[in-house]
Amino acid sequence: MTTSSPSSLDAFKAEIDGIRWYDDPRSLELRSRDYYWYSPVLKGQLDDMRADIVVLPTTEEEIKRVAAAAVKCRLPLTLRGGGTGNYGQCIPLKGGVVMDLTRLDRVIAIEDGLVRVQAGARIARLDDAVRETGQELLMYPSTRTIATIGGFVAGGSGGIGSLRHGMLRDAGNMDYVKVVTVEDEPQVIELRGDEVQKVQHAYGTNGIIVEIGLALTKATDWIHTAALFDGYEQALRFCMETQENRLDLYLLTCVERRFSPYYRKFGDRFPADRDAVFAMVAPDDMARFCEKVEERGGSVSFSLRKDEIAGCGLQPAYECGWNHTTLQALKVDKSWTYLQVAYPYPFDPALAMRQMNRYGAEMFWHHEVAMMGGRIQIFALPLVKWHGKDRIDELMAEIERDGCTVFNPHVVTIEEGGMKQIDTAQIEFKRQADPYGLMNPGKTLGWTDAMARS
Ligand SMILES: Cc1cc2nc3c(=O)[nH]c(=O)nc-3n(C[C@H](O)[C@H](O)[C@H](O)COP(=O)(O)OP(=O)(O)OC[C@H]3O[C@@H](n4cnc5c(N)ncnc54)[C@H](O)[C@@H]3O)c2cc1C
Repeated sequence: MTTSSPSSLDAFKAEIDGIRWYDDPRSLELRSRDYYWYSPVLKGQLDDMRADIVVLPTTEEEIKRVAAAAVKCRLPLTLRGGGTGNYGQCIPLKGGVVMDLTRLDRVIAIEDGLVRVQAGARIARLDDAVRETGQELLMYPSTRTIATIGGFVAGGSGGIGSLRHGMLRDAGNMDYVKVVTVEDEPQVIELRGDEVQKVQHAYGTNGIIVEIGLALTKATDWIHTAALFDGYEQALRFCMETQENRLDLYLLTCVERRFSPYYRKFGDRFPADRDAVFAMVAPDDMARFCEKVEERGGSVSFSLRKDEIAGCGLQPAYECGWNHTTLQALKVDKSWTYLQVAYPYPFDPALAMRQMNRYGAEMFWHHEVAMMGGRIQIFALPLVKWHGKDRIDELMAEIERDGCTVFNPHVVTIEEGGMKQIDTAQIEFKRQADPYGLMNPGKTLGWTDAMARS
């Protein structure tokens, strides 16, 4: 499915002479996909979408040349980092150019409390590099190994570490971004402080993020652990108690016992008759963590430092939470899909239990504890048996009637998914950074063809 003519593609190739590109069917297929297949709705809609050409620039100058060439040839331009987005975020709905940014991957400078990094750097490599200076990232998605930092800023929201430092968009987490515009003569715009919100979670529709400044904190040698409980409500209440007691945690994920067959590597460490809380705990607070587990009648299943985990054949705790729970299940049973739910404040575990009872075998539950805007925010990413789109819509409406907010993962636009409304500041910035409306077309309801410069 494409809108690009052979002549415009030939002209484009001539313009980017010297920059690496591919147009063989295998490369086009591989680099036109992400984790959209989590959703049977999106799978039906997006399976055939393909880029016409994939380019791999290595420098900011090459990126500017690609942007100018896309403008000159009027080709759609979709950016790609690790390709781990869940909603077809980097799938080119109108074909054209996919620009893979993973070669723009330099860690530019690590200072006290700040790292300057190019957007295509893989998060794991970045976090490992800052750890060498005794610091660590404030947060990362559970796709730490594959995802890029630019893809996280443009497509993600928060994750491991959000319990301690809030969501990506919370004040102080991002210092600045540098954005290349998609114009006849591409410019570099620097957005600082709160201005970063103009491109955060904009799905690469309004400028190419080339460099990012992120806040850092002192590194902790987190202990990866799991506590087991004799009931999901007990596990949830334990999670809330850790917060009332201000335990120093980087991750707190509550996973009900029916997930146990999907966590194959864990065997008896996550048995089918216990509900689990996976956590990353500061070494100085591990004793208090164990005390609280015992007070709630639970037991600690294992506690290991990061370098000990692989030796035991286990996954790190950060791959047991957030959307990795869904991945663990889908690896074993493809009949699942999922939802993303935010709970009203203050969180009431009884509501989660009512939902669990209401949906029985149709939904398996998992909750995440995070901070957002300075207070505790509980999210759920439940597994849902796929019984068609109408049923998913019904479930979302029911859960919203409980007072929860559902971030629909079965749609491609920013607004129908998480944001709920058009972000006018992002659209205003798009007028400046993508005046021809070429970037990731079809992903924002705030932009119509009539708004594009001709
Ligand atoms: C198993 C699993 C677990 C996940 N867990 C989390 C989680 O804990 N938290 C979370 O927030 N997300 C999570 N996600 C979603 C996703 O992994 C993250 O958002 C990740 O950070 C995306 O990075 P990426 O490099 O793969 O981006 P991509 O998927 O390549 O791109 C994401 C979006 O950003 C745009 N983009 C990419 N690079 C740039 C750039 N340089 N400039 C402008 N736009 C750009 C793309 O066009 C696309 O719209 C998860 C997904 C999966 C499959």
